[in-house]
Amino acid sequence: MEKGKIAVLAVQGAFAEQMERVSRLGAECIALRQKADLMQDFDGVILPGGESTVQGKLLVELGMLEPLRDKISKGLPVMGTCAGLILLAREIGNDAHGWLGTLPVRVRRNAYGRQLGSFHTEGMVRGIGTVPMTFIRAPYVEETAQEVEILARIEHRIVAVRYQNQLGTAFHPELDADNRIHEMFLAMCEKG
Ligand code: GLN
Repeated sequence: MEKGKIAVLAVQGAFAEQMERVSRLGAECIALRQKADLMQDFDGVILPGGESTVQGKLLVELGMLEPLRDKISKGLPVMGTCAGLILLAREIGNDAHGWLGTLPVRVRRNAYGRQLGSFHTEGMVRGIGTVPMTFIRAPYVEETAQEVEILARIEHRIVAVRYQNQLGTAFHPELDADNRIHEMFLAMCEKG
């Protein structure tokens, strides 16, 4: 199996960390900064953490939202971390509208309250084991469609899910030394 080529959405947020991690794991990596970048060939896309409202608006302004949605709907593997998970969600419980809406879950933004805005813990991820988890003004998943696989919960809250070609985490695997979440995603992007 050959490692796929990974595109990282690079309009705002922690895209540099994602690109660095993916490259270090031996996958070719490109940045998506404008609509034309979506014309390139790639086998998976990462939507990084950051500010989902800013990223979503930029995707609309740059004309990238529709083509990206189309690719994901047709099966392009995608990993959304934190703000990226919010972009993927079909519904945002405490927001007027969603963005890509390809992942049948409802998320809640900034869901851990002011004091608990950012925290570090460890949690069990289905199929992987215990991994470090860094949360930064993170969302959690309030509800999922039945077909969505729940990969991890922290204190009863869903923090990682998988649905077909889509992987979403409320935490930031690119900010911890553990590679297993990225390896799981790279396996979803393998060619051949
Ligand atoms: N609070 C941000 C949002 O609502 C997400 C934070 C993050 O990506 N670390 O988009």
